[in-house]
Amino acid sequence: MPIAQVGTPAGRLLVVDDEAVPRLLVARTAAVVGIATDGAATLAEARERLEAFRYDIVVLDLALGEHDGVELLRMLRDAGSDAVLIILSGFNERVRQAAVRLAGALGFRVAGTLGKPLRVEALLGLLRLLPEPGHAGDTAPDTVIDARTIAAGIDNGEFVCLFQPEVTLHGRQVVALEMLARWRSPRLGPVRPDLFIPAAERCGLIDRLTCHLMQQALPHFRRWREIHPGLSLAVNLSPLSLADLSLPEQVSAVLDAAGVPAEAMVLEVTEGAVLLDEVVAADVLTRLRIRGIRLSIDDFGTGHSSLLSLLRMPFSEVKIDQRFVGDCLRDPEAPKIILAVVSLARELGLQLVAEGIESEPVAALLSELGCKIGQGYLFAPPLPAAAITARLESRAAKDAARAVAG
Ligand code: C2E
Ligand code: CA
Ligand code: CA
Repeated sequence: MPIAQVGTPAGRLLVVDDEAVPRLLVARTAAVVGIATDGAATLAEARERLEAFRYDIVVLDLALGEHDGVELLRMLRDAGSDAVLIILSGFNERVRQAAVRLAGALGFRVAGTLGKPLRVEALLGLLRLLPEPGHAGDTAPDTVIDARTIAAGIDNGEFVCLFQPEVTLHGRQVVALEMLARWRSPRLGPVRPDLFIPAAERCGLIDRLTCHLMQQALPHFRRWREIHPGLSLAVNLSPLSLADLSLPEQVSAVLDAAGVPAEAMVLEVTEGAVLLDEVVAADVLTRLRIRGIRLSIDDFGTGHSSLLSLLRMPFSEVKIDQRFVGDCLRDPEAPKIILAVVSLARELGLQLVAEGIESEPVAALLSELGCKIGQGYLFAPPLPAAAITARLESRAAKDAARAVAG
């Protein structure tokens, strides 16, 4: 893909931020590489600009006063914009990545994310690497992780599953295993899921990848259920998959082929997923639920779902985001948020899982706040299938010995 040269007029940029300083910084930096910039401080101003001009680049802040960047993303889509996006946000990297995924799911190319305060060199770096305008039909903004590399990786068995236990905080019994994908590419080395999942989404290969990973995981899981009946398997689902009305049939077919009951399966979707198309998402989620598959809302607290959409969707579980869990001893607000989610989950009859537990004091506090199930490095990191088998067998052997002794 051609790269815009420094100094060439590389099109028109719109920066949407309610703060004047970042708007000014973006305009000045863009001018260095010959890009003309317009600013908008509100959603309404952004709409006016978008009606008047076609933009090649949109730099957007995720928090826009009373509106949020997700509304802007939808507005851009509805306006038919094919701009390349740069996401600007004071939120942490995880939130920014969630926004990147959502933008990808809406069909946008994202050049990158930038934190606040804005670093001019970082913005300059992104602007210099932007593809030339007018290539909206191209697949991915990155040249390294393209469709062919991912497809070949799937065919060559380079994608593998690790499994991370979810345990009861009291008693530390394993109740579920979350499947987490890893890519060991001979050419690129190990690639992190927060890079290859969005890439697979952009290339239209995410469903194929999910299906491939599930087919790898299910035979192990079936064996683990023999050792430990009642165990669940949690699989992360891309927001894009929720737009596919045939998903429930596809998941059932994969489960049937592996001889795993639907009740053993939990599908995790991030809050953002629900925002894409509520009608289709509700249809797909309801039919999955009717088939007996449980649904978990992942990274709870980082997205933009309203309480109403949470109530409307047939979720059975909430996974409180690791940001609140990790901070719960440092940030006095975090335990209050956890407590609110605990009571919300209780009221709605949802199971609550706290992820990212790294220490005993955090586990103790969560338990005190009323959380029953946890996941995190304290209990186990994501592990290969063989290590899970060994753990479950050893636990079963100990339980059997105790039963005989008792
Ligand atoms: P997630 O679903 O929120 O998964 C939890 C992430 O937190 C995992 O990162 C896990 O390794 C990490 N983690 C677990 N315990 C701790 C802890 O105590 N402390 C900290 N700091 N981190 C912990 P991982 O494996 O790198 O996955 C990142 C994300 O990539 C996942 O976030 C999930 O959204 C996505 N992902 C992974 N596998 C798949 C997949 O097969 N399909 C889809 N669609 N997404 C996947
Ligand atoms: Ca997850
Ligand atoms: Ca999560």
